[in-house]
Amino acid sequence: MIQAPKGTFDVLPADAERRALVERTARRVLGAAGYQRIETPTFESTELFSRGVGEATDIVQKEMYTFDDGGGRSLTLRPEGTAPVCRAYIEHGMHRLPQPVKLWYLSTFFRAEAPQRGRYRQFWQVGAEAIGSAGPDSDAELIVLLAELLEALGVKGTRLRIASLGTPATRAEYRVELTGYLRARADALSPEARSRIELNPMRAFDATDPGTREVMREAPKLIDRLAPDDAEHFAAVRELLDGAGLRYELDPTLVRGLDYYTRTLYEFTSDALGAQSGVGGGGRYDGLIEQLGGPPTPGSGWAAGVERILLSGSEQPIAPDPVDLFVALPRLDSGSARAAFELAREARRAGLSAQLELAGRSLKGQLKHADRIGARYVAIVNEIGDSTLKEMASGEQHELALVAVIPAILRGDRL
Ligand code: AMP
Repeated sequence: MIQAPKGTFDVLPADAERRALVERTARRVLGAAGYQRIETPTFESTELFSRGVGEATDIVQKEMYTFDDGGGRSLTLRPEGTAPVCRAYIEHGMHRLPQPVKLWYLSTFFRAEAPQRGRYRQFWQVGAEAIGSAGPDSDAELIVLLAELLEALGVKGTRLRIASLGTPATRAEYRVELTGYLRARADALSPEARSRIELNPMRAFDATDPGTREVMREAPKLIDRLAPDDAEHFAAVRELLDGAGLRYELDPTLVRGLDYYTRTLYEFTSDALGAQSGVGGGGRYDGLIEQLGGPPTPGSGWAAGVERILLSGSEQPIAPDPVDLFVALPRLDSGSARAAFELAREARRAGLSAQLELAGRSLKGQLKHADRIGARYVAIVNEIGDSTLKEMASGEQHELALVAVIPAILRGDRL
């Protein structure tokens, strides 16, 4: 038996309804703030991600689905959405548009990770980017919009953590300082933390063993090393969040798996999720567009995982779409089959939802099916030009000329 590949899943009709709600809500919340939809290709030049996301990141090192397109070009299934949106911004000369250019997307992404609950190899993200604005207000607006989206979708137990990364130069200096601090205390660190001192010293902040934690308590924090204008920018973001009444925790050890972030960084987690508690996050990426070959352009944005939103959201069942009319056929002769086909089609053209009997059931079976799908009316097509219209709620029925069926339903006639 052929099964879906490991780490992937089918979206069955019942799930599709809840996903459609995520999309409608994103359109409403983000659209109201002037964000417009963008979609980029499912695969891109591998170089876009190695340059954009960062050669040393886990994503680029271990998690990309990369293939040769047969013509000697290396392509990669997109692992994230910001680099592609920035590529599109540059490619379409969007710097000539009024700034910032505010975009949102809802797409599939691909990462070769070990699958578990809330972590898949193909997953969906809804994301928003504001490109061309350097101000703290654009960061704060993005954070508020993500909070609103999560709230509107009933995501429970959310917590927001924020930090500032400053500039790449500040970060590089800080890294030297932290590496030196860890080297001097290497004996007290866990073997794992010790092995990462040179490659990824920040990871020591996530350690759980007592020895490493003890060392990290006194470790220098990036947030205390910010240049004055970066610190000012961060203070302004926080002031706007405070004004908006948004609760957050300052987390000087916050790290995210992408290299392009500068200044503001944030993450929403949900207590309703297990180990994979991140619902969405993002930050500012002022150097990215230039790094990808565009003009120096600031930018800021976030992405949230649709599966995590659904896992931590309210389980309220979504009412199925109403069915106004079910067209039943007591006998399968070609004349009434055609009349039934035409009636369903006419009904849909008149703006009603209408379904046709397609399985050759008995009349009794057809009425049972109409009830199961919640049809308001059933039109039983007796002969060409003649029908019985039944109102399912009352069980009442009347003989009616076929041409009178649709007007009766449009008027909402009680039978
Ligand atoms: P990131 O692009 O890594 O910042 O991830 C943003 C959000 O996407 C996370 O907070 C998750 O909600 C979601 N996400 C990331 N990776 C996965 C994955 N492998 N499976 C499902 N959701 C994911």
